Formats: sequence, C-alpha cells, structure tokens
Amino acid sequence: MPHPKKRKTKAGRNQRRSHHALEKAVLTKCEKCQKPVRPHYACSSCGYYKKNKVIDVLKKLSKKDRKKVEKVNKKEETKKTKQEEKKIKEETKKTTEKPENNIEKQFNNTTI
Ligand SMILES: [Zn+2]
Repeated sequence: MPHPKKRKTKAGRNQRRSHHALEKAVLTKCEKCQKPVRPHYACSSCGYYKKNKVIDVLKKLSKKDRKKVEKVNKKEETKKTKQEEKKIKEETKKTTEKPENNIEKQFNNTTI
C-alpha cells in the first residue's frame, strides 16, 4: 500500500479541502410544465426538450401511475381551456361595452 512520505499539517489539509464545497445546482423553468429543470437537459417530468418530445415519460410507469398522470394532465388541460374561455369572454365584453360608453359620453358632452 502507498504511504504519504510526510505528515500534512492541519492548515495544509484545510487549504486542500477549501475547494471541495459543492456548488448550488443551476435550474431554469421547463417551457411546457413550468417545473425546475437543469439547462440543456430534457425535462424529467414531461419529457420535453426545446418544444420536442424526447422521452416517453409514461412508458416506465405502471398502469396505475400512468392513469394518475393522465388524469392530472386532463385536469390541467381543462383548467387551461376554461381560463382561455374566460379571457375570451372578458375581451368580448370589453369590446362590446366600449363603443356604447363612447356614444353615451358623446351625447352627454353635446347636451351640456
Ligand atoms: Zn417539463
């Protein structure tokens, strides 16, 4: 077995170990599911990388887990569609309300 020739002092040992600290992992958001992902890596939760499906995430899961994930995905999709519908409704309301208000204001201005 190899042995060190001379004893290292505490200071020398500590100086060597001063570079051993772990760095904090750099994380970005996944474009598809908004979960934290390492940059230049495919997302492990949805399997997408730069808008392309790279990994089939559901393949490794058992049937029960697969059904659970599909249920969650469906719920999120319905939520999104409901939010979009709300936005469209609000926009249509705004567009329908604006001209009427303008006309009323004009009338008020002319009467005064
Ligand atoms: Zn993702």
